[in-house]
Amino acid sequence: MRAAVIETPGHLRMQDVVAPSPGPDDVVIDVALTGLCGTDLHIYAGELNYVYPIIPGHEVVGTIAAVGANVSDLQPGMPVTFDPNIPCGHCHFCRRLRFNHCLNWQGVGVTRHGGFAEQVLVPAKVVYPIGDLPLEQAAFIEPLSCVVYGLQRATPALGDRILIFGAGPIGLLLMQCLRRGGAAHVTVTDLQPERLALARRLGAEETVQADEGQAAALREHAPYGYDMVVDATGVPAVAARCFDYVTPGGKVLLFGVCPEDATIPFSPFHLYRRDISVYGSFALNVTFGPAIELLRSGAVDVTPLVSHRFPLEQLPAALELAHTQSEPSAKILIAP
Ligand SMILES: [Zn+2]
Ligand SMILES: [Zn+2]
Repeated sequence: MRAAVIETPGHLRMQDVVAPSPGPDDVVIDVALTGLCGTDLHIYAGELNYVYPIIPGHEVVGTIAAVGANVSDLQPGMPVTFDPNIPCGHCHFCRRLRFNHCLNWQGVGVTRHGGFAEQVLVPAKVVYPIGDLPLEQAAFIEPLSCVVYGLQRATPALGDRILIFGAGPIGLLLMQCLRRGGAAHVTVTDLQPERLALARRLGAEETVQADEGQAAALREHAPYGYDMVVDATGVPAVAARCFDYVTPGGKVLLFGVCPEDATIPFSPFHLYRRDISVYGSFALNVTFGPAIELLRSGAVDVTPLVSHRFPLEQLPAALELAHTQSEPSAKILIAP
Protein backbone atom coordinates (compact mmCIF):
# COMPACT_ATOMS: atom_id res chain seq x y z
CA MET A 1 0.00 0.00 0.00
CA ARG A 2 1.01 3.64 -0.38
CA ALA A 3 2.08 5.43 2.78
CA ALA A 4 3.75 8.70 3.77
CA VAL A 5 6.79 7.80 5.84
CA ILE A 6 8.80 10.32 7.86
CA GLU A 7 12.20 8.60 7.71
CA THR A 8 14.06 11.16 9.83
CA PRO A 9 13.03 14.66 10.94
CA GLY A 10 12.40 16.82 7.88
CA HIS A 11 12.45 13.87 5.47
CA LEU A 12 9.10 12.58 4.32
CA ARG A 13 8.81 10.13 1.43
CA MET A 14 5.90 8.37 -0.26
CA GLN A 15 6.60 4.65 -0.14
CA ASP A 16 5.10 1.29 -0.98
CA VAL A 17 4.93 -0.59 2.32
CA VAL A 18 3.48 -3.95 3.33
CA ALA A 19 -0.24 -3.65 4.07
CA PRO A 20 -1.09 -4.50 7.70
CA SER A 21 -2.91 -7.69 8.64
CA PRO A 22 -4.84 -7.86 11.91
CA GLY A 23 -3.74 -9.77 15.01
CA PRO A 24 -6.53 -11.50 17.00
CA ASP A 25 -7.66 -8.28 18.77
CA ASP A 26 -6.98 -5.83 15.94
CA VAL A 27 -8.85 -4.06 13.20
CA VAL A 28 -7.51 -2.92 9.81
CA ILE A 29 -9.16 0.23 8.47
CA ASP A 30 -9.29 1.46 4.86
CA VAL A 31 -8.49 5.13 5.40
CA ALA A 32 -10.95 7.62 3.87
CA LEU A 33 -9.73 10.90 5.40
CA THR A 34 -7.01 11.92 7.83
CA GLY A 35 -6.81 15.37 9.39
CA LEU A 36 -3.48 17.18 9.43
CA CYS A 37 -2.72 18.52 12.90
CA GLY A 38 -0.03 20.44 14.76
CA THR A 39 1.26 17.16 16.22
CA ASP A 40 2.09 15.95 12.69
CA LEU A 41 4.13 19.12 12.16
CA HIS A 42 5.99 18.54 15.44
CA ILE A 43 6.83 14.96 14.40
CA TYR A 44 7.94 16.13 10.96
CA ALA A 45 10.15 18.80 12.53
CA GLY A 46 11.56 16.35 15.11
CA GLU A 47 10.74 18.67 18.01
CA LEU A 48 10.37 15.94 20.64
CA ASN A 49 11.93 12.52 21.11
CA TYR A 50 9.89 10.74 18.48
CA VAL A 51 11.05 7.41 17.03
CA TYR A 52 11.56 7.18 13.27
CA PRO A 53 10.66 5.98 10.71
CA ILE A 54 6.98 6.68 11.37
CA ILE A 55 3.79 7.00 9.32
CA PRO A 56 2.07 9.98 11.03
CA GLY A 57 -1.66 10.80 11.10
CA HIS A 58 -3.95 10.29 14.10
CA GLU A 59 -7.25 11.98 13.10
CA VAL A 60 -8.53 9.17 10.92
CA VAL A 61 -11.88 8.03 9.53
CA GLY A 62 -12.54 5.13 7.19
CA THR A 63 -14.23 1.77 6.87
CA ILE A 64 -13.22 -1.52 8.41
CA ALA A 65 -11.33 -3.74 5.96
CA ALA A 66 -10.64 -6.72 8.23
CA VAL A 67 -11.03 -7.76 11.87
CA GLY A 68 -9.07 -10.22 14.04
CA ALA A 69 -10.40 -13.56 15.27
CA ASN A 70 -11.40 -12.24 18.73
CA VAL A 71 -13.27 -9.18 17.44
CA SER A 72 -17.00 -9.83 17.51
CA ASP A 73 -18.72 -6.44 17.66
CA LEU A 74 -17.11 -4.84 14.59
CA GLN A 75 -17.47 -6.01 10.99
CA PRO A 76 -15.82 -5.24 7.66
CA GLY A 77 -17.57 -2.40 5.87
CA MET A 78 -18.45 -0.45 9.05
CA PRO A 79 -17.59 3.27 8.96
CA VAL A 80 -15.38 3.99 11.97
CA THR A 81 -12.86 6.25 13.63
CA PHE A 82 -10.48 5.43 16.47
CA ASP A 83 -9.07 7.05 19.58
CA PRO A 84 -5.35 7.25 18.71
CA ASN A 85 -4.41 7.02 22.39
CA ILE A 86 -3.86 3.42 23.45
CA PRO A 87 -3.52 3.14 27.23
CA CYS A 88 -2.16 0.00 28.90
CA GLY A 89 -5.02 -0.16 31.42
CA HIS A 90 -2.89 -1.29 34.37
CA CYS A 91 -0.26 1.37 35.20
CA HIS A 92 -0.38 3.88 38.09
CA PHE A 93 -2.30 6.47 36.03
CA CYS A 94 -4.60 4.07 34.15
CA ARG A 95 -5.74 2.73 37.55
CA ARG A 96 -6.71 6.29 38.45
CA LEU A 97 -8.60 6.75 35.15
CA ARG A 98 -5.99 9.24 33.89
CA PHE A 99 -5.51 7.25 30.71
CA ASN A 100 -3.94 10.20 28.87
CA HIS A 101 -1.01 9.98 31.29
CA CYS A 102 -0.52 6.23 30.85
CA LEU A 103 3.09 5.25 31.58
CA ASN A 104 3.03 2.75 28.69
CA TRP A 105 1.13 5.02 26.33
CA GLN A 106 1.05 4.21 22.62
CA GLY A 107 -0.16 6.78 20.10
CA VAL A 108 -1.33 5.82 16.62
CA GLY A 109 0.55 8.10 14.24
CA VAL A 110 2.97 9.04 17.03
CA THR A 111 4.62 5.92 18.46
CA ARG A 112 3.12 3.47 15.93
CA HIS A 113 2.10 3.81 12.30
CA GLY A 114 -0.83 6.12 11.61
CA GLY A 115 -3.32 7.19 9.00
CA PHE A 116 -1.36 8.94 6.25
CA ALA A 117 -1.56 5.66 4.37
CA GLU A 118 -4.12 3.57 2.51
CA GLN A 119 -4.69 1.40 5.58
CA VAL A 120 -4.02 1.56 9.31
CA LEU A 121 -3.97 -1.15 11.99
CA VAL A 122 -5.37 -0.42 15.47
CA PRO A 123 -6.58 -2.47 18.46
CA ALA A 124 -10.35 -3.03 18.32
CA LYS A 125 -10.73 -1.52 21.82
CA VAL A 126 -10.04 2.02 20.52
CA VAL A 127 -12.40 1.81 17.50
CA TYR A 128 -15.65 3.81 17.46
CA PRO A 129 -18.39 3.19 14.84
CA ILE A 130 -19.61 6.49 13.37
CA GLY A 131 -22.80 5.31 11.66
CA ASP A 132 -24.00 7.73 9.01
CA LEU A 133 -22.02 10.74 10.28
CA PRO A 134 -20.46 12.30 7.15
CA LEU A 135 -16.78 11.35 6.95
CA GLU A 136 -15.61 14.95 6.64
CA GLN A 137 -17.35 15.78 9.94
CA ALA A 138 -16.14 12.59 11.58
CA ALA A 139 -12.55 13.63 10.83
CA PHE A 140 -13.03 16.23 13.61
CA ILE A 141 -13.94 13.73 16.33
CA GLU A 142 -10.38 13.51 17.67
CA PRO A 143 -9.66 17.27 17.92
CA LEU A 144 -13.17 17.86 19.27
CA SER A 145 -12.53 15.17 21.91
CA CYS A 146 -9.49 17.17 23.03
CA VAL A 147 -11.66 20.30 23.29
CA VAL A 148 -14.30 18.41 25.30
CA TYR A 149 -11.60 17.19 27.67
CA GLY A 150 -10.19 20.72 28.12
CA LEU A 151 -13.63 22.09 28.97
CA GLN A 152 -14.40 19.17 31.28
CA ARG A 153 -11.30 20.22 33.19
CA ALA A 154 -11.82 23.99 33.21
CA THR A 155 -15.64 23.77 33.74
CA PRO A 156 -16.98 27.08 32.41
CA ALA A 157 -20.03 28.33 34.31
CA LEU A 158 -23.46 29.38 33.09
CA GLY A 159 -23.39 33.06 32.15
CA ASP A 160 -19.60 33.37 31.83
CA ARG A 161 -17.94 36.00 29.67
CA ILE A 162 -15.16 34.24 27.80
CA LEU A 163 -12.19 35.37 25.72
CA ILE A 164 -10.44 33.05 23.25
CA PHE A 165 -7.06 33.86 21.71
CA GLY A 166 -6.87 32.17 18.30
CA ALA A 167 -9.58 31.44 15.71
CA GLY A 168 -7.99 28.42 14.05
CA PRO A 169 -9.93 25.13 13.95
CA ILE A 170 -9.31 24.49 17.66
CA GLY A 171 -10.31 28.01 18.72
CA LEU A 172 -13.53 27.73 16.72
CA LEU A 173 -14.35 24.31 18.20
CA LEU A 174 -13.75 25.73 21.70
CA MET A 175 -15.93 28.74 20.90
CA GLN A 176 -18.86 26.61 19.73
CA CYS A 177 -18.64 24.25 22.73
CA LEU A 178 -18.43 27.16 25.17
CA ARG A 179 -21.51 28.82 23.68
CA ARG A 180 -23.35 25.52 23.81
CA GLY A 181 -22.12 25.07 27.39
CA GLY A 182 -23.81 28.19 28.69
CA ALA A 183 -21.37 31.04 28.13
CA ALA A 184 -23.22 34.35 28.00
CA HIS A 185 -20.72 35.99 25.71
CA VAL A 186 -17.70 34.72 23.77
CA THR A 187 -15.10 37.07 22.32
CA VAL A 188 -12.55 35.71 19.83
CA THR A 189 -9.36 37.48 18.81
CA ASP A 190 -6.99 36.56 15.96
CA LEU A 191 -4.61 38.10 13.44
CA GLN A 192 -6.55 36.96 10.35
CA PRO A 193 -9.77 38.83 9.45
CA GLU A 194 -11.02 35.79 7.47
CA ARG A 195 -10.86 33.66 10.60
CA LEU A 196 -12.70 36.30 12.63
CA ALA A 197 -15.45 36.48 10.01
CA LEU A 198 -15.85 32.70 10.30
CA ALA A 199 -15.92 33.00 14.11
CA ARG A 200 -18.83 35.45 13.86
CA ARG A 201 -20.61 33.22 11.37
CA LEU A 202 -20.29 30.30 13.79
CA GLY A 203 -21.75 32.31 16.67
CA ALA A 204 -19.04 34.36 18.41
CA GLU A 205 -20.74 37.38 19.98
CA GLU A 206 -17.71 39.53 19.38
CA THR A 207 -14.43 39.42 17.46
CA VAL A 208 -11.37 41.60 17.92
CA GLN A 209 -8.56 42.00 15.43
CA ALA A 210 -5.18 41.22 17.02
CA ASP A 211 -3.50 44.51 16.13
CA GLU A 212 -2.34 47.57 18.05
CA GLY A 213 -5.94 48.30 19.07
CA GLN A 214 -6.51 44.84 20.58
CA ALA A 215 -5.73 45.64 24.22
CA ALA A 216 -7.95 48.74 24.29
CA ALA A 217 -10.81 46.89 22.58
CA LEU A 218 -10.67 43.96 25.01
CA ARG A 219 -10.57 46.33 28.01
CA GLU A 220 -13.53 48.24 26.67
CA HIS A 221 -15.56 45.06 26.15
CA ALA A 222 -14.77 43.68 29.61
CA PRO A 223 -13.51 46.42 31.94
CA TYR A 224 -13.24 43.97 34.86
CA GLY A 225 -11.85 41.14 32.73
CA TYR A 226 -13.24 37.82 31.47
CA ASP A 227 -14.44 34.90 33.59
CA MET A 228 -12.38 32.54 31.46
CA VAL A 229 -9.52 33.28 29.08
CA VAL A 230 -8.41 30.52 26.71
CA ASP A 231 -5.20 30.37 24.72
CA ALA A 232 -5.75 28.43 21.49
CA THR A 233 -2.60 29.65 19.76
CA GLY A 234 0.28 27.86 21.48
CA VAL A 235 2.30 31.07 21.13
CA PRO A 236 4.06 31.72 24.47
CA ALA A 237 3.72 35.52 24.24
CA VAL A 238 -0.03 35.11 23.70
CA ALA A 239 -0.37 32.57 26.52
CA ALA A 240 1.31 35.11 28.81
CA ARG A 241 -1.26 37.77 27.94
CA CYS A 242 -4.17 35.55 29.09
CA PHE A 243 -3.35 36.58 32.66
CA ASP A 244 -3.84 40.26 31.80
CA TYR A 245 -7.48 39.77 30.85
CA VAL A 246 -8.85 37.33 33.43
CA THR A 247 -11.23 38.73 36.04
CA PRO A 248 -10.67 38.19 39.79
CA GLY A 249 -11.98 34.70 40.59
CA GLY A 250 -11.62 33.68 36.93
CA LYS A 251 -9.86 30.90 35.05
CA VAL A 252 -7.12 30.62 32.46
CA LEU A 253 -7.12 27.58 30.17
CA LEU A 254 -3.82 27.01 28.37
CA PHE A 255 -4.99 24.82 25.49
CA GLY A 256 -2.58 25.64 22.65
CA VAL A 257 0.64 23.62 22.63
CA CYS A 258 3.61 25.91 23.32
CA PRO A 259 7.17 24.75 22.50
CA GLU A 260 8.44 22.38 25.19
CA ASP A 261 11.24 24.68 26.34
CA ALA A 262 9.18 27.91 26.33
CA THR A 263 8.62 29.78 29.58
CA ILE A 264 6.41 32.77 30.31
CA PRO A 265 6.62 35.29 33.15
CA PHE A 266 3.71 35.47 35.53
CA SER A 267 3.20 37.02 38.93
CA PRO A 268 2.40 34.59 41.76
CA PHE A 269 1.15 37.59 43.73
CA HIS A 270 -1.23 38.48 40.90
CA LEU A 271 -2.66 34.92 40.93
CA TYR A 272 -2.96 34.94 44.73
CA ARG A 273 -4.44 38.41 45.03
CA ARG A 274 -6.98 37.82 42.26
CA ASP A 275 -7.98 34.19 42.98
CA ILE A 276 -6.94 33.03 39.52
CA SER A 277 -7.11 29.33 38.55
CA VAL A 278 -4.93 27.98 35.73
CA TYR A 279 -5.71 24.80 33.77
CA GLY A 280 -3.59 22.71 31.45
CA SER A 281 -5.19 20.11 29.21
CA PHE A 282 -3.31 17.26 27.57
CA ALA A 283 -4.87 15.38 24.65
CA LEU A 284 -8.12 13.66 25.65
CA ASN A 285 -9.42 11.13 28.11
CA VAL A 286 -12.42 8.97 27.19
CA THR A 287 -14.09 11.94 25.49
CA PHE A 288 -14.77 10.42 22.06
CA GLY A 289 -18.37 9.66 23.06
CA PRO A 290 -19.39 13.27 23.82
CA ALA A 291 -17.52 14.54 20.74
CA ILE A 292 -19.44 12.14 18.48
CA GLU A 293 -22.74 13.27 20.06
CA LEU A 294 -21.89 16.96 19.55
CA LEU A 295 -21.28 16.34 15.85
CA ARG A 296 -24.21 14.00 15.33
CA SER A 297 -26.68 16.48 16.85
CA GLY A 298 -25.28 19.42 14.89
CA ALA A 299 -24.42 21.25 18.12
CA VAL A 300 -20.95 21.84 16.69
CA ASP A 301 -20.60 22.76 13.02
CA VAL A 302 -17.26 21.69 11.54
CA THR A 303 -17.99 21.84 7.81
CA PRO A 304 -16.77 25.47 7.41
CA LEU A 305 -13.54 24.60 9.24
CA VAL A 306 -12.18 22.54 6.32
CA SER A 307 -10.07 24.80 4.12
CA HIS A 308 -8.12 22.30 2.01
CA ARG A 309 -8.25 18.71 0.79
CA PHE A 310 -5.12 17.07 -0.61
CA PRO A 311 -4.49 13.60 -2.03
CA LEU A 312 -2.04 11.55 0.05
CA GLU A 313 0.69 11.96 -2.56
CA GLN A 314 0.62 15.72 -1.88
CA LEU A 315 1.12 15.44 1.89
CA PRO A 316 4.52 17.19 1.62
CA ALA A 317 2.82 20.22 0.03
CA ALA A 318 0.12 20.14 2.72
CA LEU A 319 2.75 20.08 5.48
CA GLU A 320 4.51 23.01 3.85
CA LEU A 321 1.27 24.99 3.65
CA ALA A 322 0.38 24.26 7.27
CA HIS A 323 3.90 25.13 8.41
CA THR A 324 4.39 28.37 6.48
CA GLN A 325 0.71 29.49 6.34
CA SER A 326 1.63 30.70 2.83
CA GLU A 327 -2.10 31.05 2.28
CA PRO A 328 -4.79 31.25 4.98
CA SER A 329 -5.73 27.75 6.04
CA ALA A 330 -7.91 26.10 8.63
CA LYS A 331 -8.28 22.30 8.74
CA ILE A 332 -6.44 20.38 6.04
CA LEU A 333 -7.77 16.90 5.22
CA ILE A 334 -5.77 14.24 3.39
CA ALA A 335 -7.41 11.47 1.34
CA PRO A 336 -5.41 8.46 0.14
ZN1 LIG B 1 -4.51 16.12 16.37
ZN1 LIG C 1 -1.31 2.80 31.60
